[in-house]
Amino acid sequence: MKCMKCGALAQKGITTSVTDLQDCLVIVRNVPCFKCSECNEIIYTGDVIQQLEEIINSAKKVMQEISIIDYSKVA
Ligand SMILES: [Zn+2]
Repeated sequence: MKCMKCGALAQKGITTSVTDLQDCLVIVRNVPCFKCSECNEIIYTGDVIQQLEEIINSAKKVMQEISIIDYSKVA
């Protein structure tokens, strides 16, 4: 996969996604991604974006100030 920002090759990796929903913070660990070797841009595949949205939506319902979720355990 190529970086959308600079066009360099993006390598498969794992990242932590942090989403600030103002009243709560959702942290998802172990998210599979592609990371650009040049500019460190993080690229998610469509499946992962969808899964992240679902995780964030269910975290919203819990209404905890900070939710820390392990992607590898829920996906
Ligand atoms: Zn890049």
